[in-house]
Amino acid sequence: MQPVVTRFAPSPTGLLHLGSAYSALVAWTRAREAGGRFLLRIEDIDTGRCRPEFEAALLGDLRWLGLDWDGEVRRQSEHFDTYHRVVEGLAGRGLAYPCFCTRADIAREIAGSGGAPHGPDGPLYPGTCRQLSPAERRQRIDAGHDHCIRLDAGRAALEVGPYAFVDEGQGRIEGQPVLAGDIVVARKDAPTSYHLAVTVDDHLQGVTLVTRGDDLLPSAHVQVLLQRLLGYATPGYSHHRLLADATGRRLAKRHGDLTIRSLRESGVTAEEVRHRALAGRTAAP
Ligand code: GLU
Repeated sequence: MQPVVTRFAPSPTGLLHLGSAYSALVAWTRAREAGGRFLLRIEDIDTGRCRPEFEAALLGDLRWLGLDWDGEVRRQSEHFDTYHRVVEGLAGRGLAYPCFCTRADIAREIAGSGGAPHGPDGPLYPGTCRQLSPAERRQRIDAGHDHCIRLDAGRAALEVGPYAFVDEGQGRIEGQPVLAGDIVVARKDAPTSYHLAVTVDDHLQGVTLVTRGDDLLPSAHVQVLLQRLLGYATPGYSHHRLLADATGRRLAKRHGDLTIRSLRESGVTAEEVRHRALAGRTAAP
């Protein structure tokens, strides 16, 4: 049987909060129970928002919680060349194209066409730049126009055909290749995007089980599509519920009172925090 390899993949844009600590605990527990490997990956492609001091705090808080990881920490900002090559490969196969639209251009286009279908993150990109000729693309790039690179989801769907993945809680799920439309595979300010970097890294790191919050379930449709295009194996998925406070509000980074740091400082022990997170409780009983 394949050894279990899980990962925790936080973005260092703030202090570790109880909700993310829960995700880390789930991934760590699944690996340790199976005698497998638990990997730590820092998702810092947004170099404007990610900070080294948050990364240091994250690592410190994980250690304090008693979570140890295997091997080196992988930092996405150190692998931009790898992602760039993958994006070039997709573009070379006619599966990705440069998009010069600003947010305002996109909003105008959508308003002008009387609306757009919605995906998990809002209205889908209307495909404006998909229509540009190779000459127009070249001319705008040579003129130095800012652009991102988008996946041509329609073409990708045709190339891949029907696909599916398995989530432990929900069973077999049919892939919806155009669920999120022509997603960005390289941002204007970075040679990758969240989806592309996650897909490449899960493959290169040999992750066999992706555990993460169920808010990211829609991402799996896109990431498995990318895996199929790139010839990567598809891992298993286990999307877990997100911790909520007493009013049912999902925990997020902005709820600063629930950072591991503040719990530590208030004298709560690591064992209590672990227990609280696993019991889905955000406050002491
Ligand atoms: N970096 C993502 C986050 O902090 C998690 C990515 C993933 O688990 O696929 O929400």
